[in-house]
Amino acid sequence: MSKMMALASKVDMAKVAKLSEKVDLNELLGLVSSMDERTLQQMMKLAAPKKPKALPEIDGDFYDIGALLTPEQREVQLKVRHFMETEVEPIANEYWQRDEFPQQLIAKLKALDIIGELFDEDGNRREGAAVTEGIIGMEMARVDVSTTTFFGVHSGLAMWSIALGGSDAQKREWLPKIRDFEVIGAFGLTEPDVGSAVSQGMTTTCRREGNTWVLNGQKYWIGNATFSDFTVVWAKDEADNQVKGFIVRRETPGFSVAKIEGKIALRAVENGHITLSNCRVQESDRLQNANSFRTTADVLRMTRAGVAWQGVGCAMGAYEKSLAYAQKRVQFGRPIASFQLVQNLLVQMLGNVTAMQTMCLRLSQLQDAGTMRDEQASLAKVFTAKRCRETVALARELHGGKGILLEHHVARYFADTEAIYSYEGTNEINSLVVGRAVTGYSAFV
Ligand code: FAD
Repeated sequence: MSKMMALASKVDMAKVAKLSEKVDLNELLGLVSSMDERTLQQMMKLAAPKKPKALPEIDGDFYDIGALLTPEQREVQLKVRHFMETEVEPIANEYWQRDEFPQQLIAKLKALDIIGELFDEDGNRREGAAVTEGIIGMEMARVDVSTTTFFGVHSGLAMWSIALGGSDAQKREWLPKIRDFEVIGAFGLTEPDVGSAVSQGMTTTCRREGNTWVLNGQKYWIGNATFSDFTVVWAKDEADNQVKGFIVRRETPGFSVAKIEGKIALRAVENGHITLSNCRVQESDRLQNANSFRTTADVLRMTRAGVAWQGVGCAMGAYEKSLAYAQKRVQFGRPIASFQLVQNLLVQMLGNVTAMQTMCLRLSQLQDAGTMRDEQASLAKVFTAKRCRETVALARELHGGKGILLEHHVARYFADTEAIYSYEGTNEINSLVVGRAVTGYSAFV
């Protein structure tokens, strides 16, 4: 009877009133009061709310590539993952919408000390740095591609330009400051009228006058340039027609930057349109070991794998967000994850992600071994950009109408992938590089 009293005190009379419309309450109460304690307990068990079904953990690393990393690399991976989930994800959509880079991230990235995982104090690459760099890029893009792009321009394109093209003195001066985010770098190669063909058709010029160089021309799409402390500018020497590299400091007279507005991808990356108008740079800021486009191409070779990893991370994030959504979203009385066609979408996404991860991991191993060829990096760029595009489109589809809302993140991945698809060599240009290597015929025009 004590059980009955306890039950009675919890009774919601409104619900009882509703119940009385469906069953005869007198009959029900008579039935209940005739029950013994054991039966009553069994009844209460049946009536208790059901525990939610235990679902598998959401994990976009299906083939456990994490197990192939060294303990140090795994530590970096988890450190970056935590950083991205706690510091970046909460603000990513806001800054994407504002079309603005979140400046406060710079101090936080400095505290994270991740470039130090790639380059030692003397600016030399650490063992396994390509794999570490790839994993960092993947983890960043898994949450926000804009952050990865900021990081890739600074620690990749700008830093590699000095690491490969700079003299020992230039490396000593710049690399530690870049590593510690004391200065932010940009990389100025593309021009308004010359993109893919920049190796042949560069129009920005440099002319030596005594101990200074005079730079004239324009650079377009230059990531970070609106606020960077320096931009590595590539220009053709009027004297020998060779491409040379310059560290152009932001305050240099004749150097100006306008922000490119109206992007539909990577909106939190600030891209600049640079004008160089009789911009004078000291000979000491010319990259002393960059005497032809070959050095520029070497830089791009080193960073192309990083862009392939961006595609991996972006697709991985889109898959994980989709799986989480599918498990929660209920239609026709069931989670959409239980529908065959929705599972098919998830399996296609996971297949893409897994193929991309394993391909890029091998590519980075080749890079660490010093044997990676151009066409190998290009193949990974072509493959991952395509598969990423397919994956984010499936993710958007799985989210239904909500897939076009920033709130669910996949809309941002969907848009950002369009930039991944075109920068660091378009799909066509990278395909031509691979095609030339495997057929022995160059189809470049
Ligand atoms: P185009 O070269 O004009 O190409 C247009 C189309 O023609 C493409 O589909 C291309 O594949 C195709 N095409 C061209 N030539 C051939 C051919 N021979 N055969 C077949 N097809 C061909 N650059 C920098 O220097 N620094 C940066 O920091 C930087 N950041 C960027 C960030 C973003 C968000 C974007 C979108 C671009 C960035 N870029 C940057 C520039 C980027 O590298 C170029 O956009 C890219 O190289 C392509 O050049 P393009 O846009 O001028 O296209």
